[in-house]
Amino acid sequence: MISRPRGTRDFTPEEMRRRRWLESRMREVFESYGYEEIATPTFEHLDLFTLKSGEGVIDETYAFEDKSGRKLALRPELTAPVMRFYVERFQMETKPLKFYYFGNCFRYDRPQKGRYREFWQFGCEMIGSDRPEAIAELISTAYSVLRQSGLKSIVVRVGNLDILRRFLDGIGARDAEIMRLIDKKEFGELERRMGEEEYGKFMDFIASNNLDAIEFEEAERMREIVSYLEDFGVPYSIDLSIARGLDYYVGVVFEMDAPRLGAEKQLCGGGEYNIVPLLGGRKIPTSGFAIGFDRTLLALEMEGFDFSEERRRVYVAYMEGMLREAIKVARKLRGEGIITEMDIMGRSIRKSLDYANKKGIKNVVIVAPDEWKEGKIVLKNMETGEQENVSIEEVMEKI
Ligand code: AMP
Repeated sequence: MISRPRGTRDFTPEEMRRRRWLESRMREVFESYGYEEIATPTFEHLDLFTLKSGEGVIDETYAFEDKSGRKLALRPELTAPVMRFYVERFQMETKPLKFYYFGNCFRYDRPQKGRYREFWQFGCEMIGSDRPEAIAELISTAYSVLRQSGLKSIVVRVGNLDILRRFLDGIGARDAEIMRLIDKKEFGELERRMGEEEYGKFMDFIASNNLDAIEFEEAERMREIVSYLEDFGVPYSIDLSIARGLDYYVGVVFEMDAPRLGAEKQLCGGGEYNIVPLLGGRKIPTSGFAIGFDRTLLALEMEGFDFSEERRRVYVAYMEGMLREAIKVARKLRGEGIITEMDIMGRSIRKSLDYANKKGIKNVVIVAPDEWKEGKIVLKNMETGEQENVSIEEVMEKI
């Protein structure tokens, strides 16, 4: 027997139902903010991913050579591919451009709950504006995607790399390794590297998280952005310790967590970044975020989200001699977008009801000769056991 590769998953019909439901929900929210969907290839030139994050990412990237010796990689994320696409195709378009995407990503991570080697990201990129209201709208988009998916407990933290870097410069403690340690929250190591006094100042700085006490001009812009977050109705806290590892991030950065998920609680990460020039494009403000789709689903499940009423669902059973009529009924219900399963096993009514019960289908329609003559069918509610004779139109209203 051959099993699936480590860190990958198969999805059952029940899981796929939930995934597709969440997918379409998230899509709607992106579109409600005026984002348009784009798609890029599953694999790209490896250079695209090393370019912006250094060679370090190769460790966790699925890189390979094709038969012609090209160095390729399964995409570990979608920002770089989308920006590549932008530079190739959309530089001349009217701004702002608002693109969203949904796709699988691959990382050679250590698998655990909420962390996989193949996982899905929903995300977006906003190109052409770094005005405070644009950044506030971006954060609001991320929050709404999670909130309107039904998630109740979401923690939004907003930071600012210009402010953080400026502070670190001020205490003479800024380098790439320090940024990495801050991102990974490896405080012991950080103290060793910064020195005790600087570390103390840094800890005071991130503990206060007080924008009003900061005099750099970056703080003024940040204050304006977060003031708009109130207008957008996004609950947030300031967290100046967000470092987001990679060098190409600038300015505002943000993360959203589902506290219940424990170690792998981060659902979303994003901010302003500067990668277009690295790809040979003209400098332009860009920002975006990525949401972990699988983790959002896990978070919903942990909150006990009720997925049962995603779509109306009916089972059609029929008495002897009524098959053609049953097909007509099923056809009509399907035409209305109702998920309709018809008996195709030649079961008796009793066995059909058993089956519907087992599959958790709440509504059963029974096509029977006497009722049919009166233009009616029998609608049985499997939860209450009640049944009544109704027209097809009434079925649609009642379920
Ligand atoms: P990143 O591109 O690293 O900022 O990731 C964005 C989001 O994708 C994270 O906040 C996670 O929710 C999700 N994510 C990242 N890596 C994984 C993984 N290995 N498995 C599942 N979700 C992930």
